[in-house]
Amino acid sequence: SRASARAILRRPTAFWRGERIKLLINIQRVEDLDHADAQYADGIGLMRTEFLLSERGGLPDEETQFRAYDAVMRWAGPRPVTIRTFDAGGDKPVAGFTIEGEANPFLGLRGLRLCLARPEIFAVQLRALARAAVRGNLKVMFPMVTSADELEAGRKLFADIVQRLRAEGIAAMLPELGIMVEVPAAALAIATFKAAFFSIGSNDLAQYVLACDRSNGALAPLMDPLHPAVLELIARTAEHGRRAGPSVSLCGDMASDPRCVPALLNCGLRELSVNAAALAQIKQTIDRLSSGGALG
Ligand code: PEP
Ligand code: MG
Repeated sequence: SRASARAILRRPTAFWRGERIKLLINIQRVEDLDHADAQYADGIGLMRTEFLLSERGGLPDEETQFRAYDAVMRWAGPRPVTIRTFDAGGDKPVAGFTIEGEANPFLGLRGLRLCLARPEIFAVQLRALARAAVRGNLKVMFPMVTSADELEAGRKLFADIVQRLRAEGIAAMLPELGIMVEVPAAALAIATFKAAFFSIGSNDLAQYVLACDRSNGALAPLMDPLHPAVLELIARTAEHGRRAGPSVSLCGDMASDPRCVPALLNCGLRELSVNAAALAQIKQTIDRLSSGGALG
C-alpha cells in the first residue's frame, strides 16, 4: 500500500547485491522540494532550469537565478545538488531564445548547442551557478552534448567566468562538471568525455535511438526505453563509469517506473534520480528485488 511504501523511506538506504543504491530526486522548480517525501532523498540528481526561462517572459537576471539555485543548495545542506544548464529547444521552445522555423527542432540548435551559440545568455546562468557553487555540494551538467569539444567549450566559458567574478571580488568557484548522456553519439563515444560524472537522459536517449518523437502519442507503443538497443547504451555507460571512475546516474522517466528498475540495476546502475512522488515506490521495489521478492 501507499502508506507502507512511505514508511520505507525512514528505513536505511536501499541495497542491491551488496551495493548501496543512491536515490536522488528530479525537480522542475524550487517548490517541488515541498513534497513530503523529498527530504528522504540522497540529494538532487536533476534540477531542470527551464522554468526560469518560461516565467513572465524575458530572460532571468543573475540575481533571480542565484536566488533559485541558492534556495536549493540551502535545502540540500551537505547533500549533492546537480543543476542542469538551460535545455531549451526541441520539446522545450522558449520565445526569444530558441530558433523559430527550424525544420527539425529536435535535431536543431538546442540544449548546450544553443547556449554556446548565445554566450551572452549562457554567461548570466554560469555566473549565478559559479556563485551558488561556494554554498555547498554543487554539480553542474550540460544537456544535449554530442562531442567532447562542446563540453570543453562550456568548461572554458565557465572557468573564464569564475576568474572574472573573483576579479570583481565576488566569491565563486568552478563546480564539478558533467554531461547528460542523451545523444546516442555521446553514449557510444563515452570515453572521449572528460566529465566528472554522467547522467543518462533516457527520455531523449530513447527518442534518438528509436527514431521516435517523444511527444508523438501515436508512437507510444514503439517508444520503449526497455528496447535492447537503449539498454545496451545504458549498460555501456554504466560500465564505463565503473572502469574509468566518473559516477553514472539515470534521471529519465524510466527511473521512476518500477517496471524498469530491475533492468536498470542489471545494466549496472547504482544511482537513480526520480520524481519525489515515486521515491517511496522505487525504494520499495529495490528492497523487494534485493530480498528476492516479486515486484509490487
Ligand atoms: C531526459 O531526456 O531523459 C531528461 C531527463 O531530460 P528532459 O526530459 O528534461 O529532456
Ligand atoms: Mg533530455
